[in-house]
Amino acid sequence: MKASSVATNILVVEDNPFDFQALNRTLSRDFIDWNVFGANSIDEMLSVISHTTPTVGIVDYHLPDATGLDAINILREYIDDIPIILVTGGVQASEAVSAIKLGAIEYIEKDFEGRYLDNVTRSIQTLLQRPNIVSLPAHHYRELLFERDLLRCRNGSFSLARKGHKIIEAICQHYPAHQGGMLYVSEENKEAEMVAAFGVNRSAQKQLLRPYAIDFVVTENLSGRLMLFKHKDSAQIGGSALATVKLELTNIVRKTKHIEALRRQATNDALTDALNRHVLLPRLTMELARVKRTKQPMGILMLDIDHFKALNDQYGHSAGDAVLAQFADVIRKGLRLTDSFIRYGGEEFIVILPGTDWVHAAMIAERLRNTVDNHVFQYEGNASLSITVSIGYATAVEGTEDPHKLIAAADTGLYAAKESGRNVVQYGELSEDE
Ligand code: GH3
Ligand code: MG
Ligand code: MG
Repeated sequence: MKASSVATNILVVEDNPFDFQALNRTLSRDFIDWNVFGANSIDEMLSVISHTTPTVGIVDYHLPDATGLDAINILREYIDDIPIILVTGGVQASEAVSAIKLGAIEYIEKDFEGRYLDNVTRSIQTLLQRPNIVSLPAHHYRELLFERDLLRCRNGSFSLARKGHKIIEAICQHYPAHQGGMLYVSEENKEAEMVAAFGVNRSAQKQLLRPYAIDFVVTENLSGRLMLFKHKDSAQIGGSALATVKLELTNIVRKTKHIEALRRQATNDALTDALNRHVLLPRLTMELARVKRTKQPMGILMLDIDHFKALNDQYGHSAGDAVLAQFADVIRKGLRLTDSFIRYGGEEFIVILPGTDWVHAAMIAERLRNTVDNHVFQYEGNASLSITVSIGYATAVEGTEDPHKLIAAADTGLYAAKESGRNVVQYGELSEDE
């Protein structure tokens, strides 16, 4: 076998002098014009690589001052793309797997007859058969494995957090200088939101690690950023691996957002993002079942903006739309996560308040009315206006079964509120004939 004519260096990190001699003999025989450098400890290895750049590393697992895994880590830190072969004298499979994860291309078990020496030669020869493998060594190989792992992230359970986490994990596994990262998604007019994180630890961030960003664009209004943390002197991921990461991130974010949008379209109103009317009866029925089961009360509010027609007439329909959207934001902020906020009609909304008796329903209604009364609504950039809202409320107790009756009761309250001059809260009695 004729090796490349360029001077090529093999580093053998081996503390057993007999094993080193045997390897040295074999390598010098099989790779005539290569130089073999020996190191019997991590310390010595560091001194060797301070003046030579090995093309291939052969690392023994058991070293006096550390394990072969540490040697691999350090070699990788210094020489980013070096192919490393781990030779082991009886090591746990899990440790061999860790070596591969750290970037070793192969592990070869030692045997007493010395057959493993030929396996080392064969392994290096396989490397040489790949075009440019000596000048572009493990790089290529690593990218293939990395891309395979990224493809695996694509399938499986659907959640942006999970997939983002898996992608960052794969990066850290294949590019061990990386210690973790965070995935952000930004939508137009919204703050960037962190949707996934892996291995990020604050003290590590400060000391050894340097952050860098991989940005990707999903659509005109949707983009993302992957912040990665790596040791300061080592390389960023690049080349086809970088392209693959960007493509995968773009795809998963696009897909997640698409499914989210479809889900929202089915349940939420586009202008106000309140739940839509289709949700009302199922939600009320479910909450009434809870009332029955838990014997907890439940409140319902019906809100109707006062003189909204006049507002549209005076300021225009688009100002009306802007006010409606802000009105919904204001109300939502005043509610708990377990409450349901539903757009019942044009400027009419229903709020379902689980676990709320009539005293508290009245308090919540009054607080919402007051907040709207004091809020300054914006339209067309910097113009502003004020509105008021009338609210009817009712409560379900054990024995209330018909959701329509509850709605009717809240509506009675609302009617009374409008009658008494608007911008007020009124109670609506449940009708008796059950
Ligand atoms: P009241 O105080 O009695 O509730 O008077 P009102 O004018 O609010 O009530 P009315 O039911 O007469 O009018 C409701 C208006 O709300 C009429 C309609 O044009 C307007 N509206 C309903 N949906 C929308 C919407 O999505 N956008 C805008 N801009 N206006 C809407
Ligand atoms: Mg109205
Ligand atoms: Mg109305």
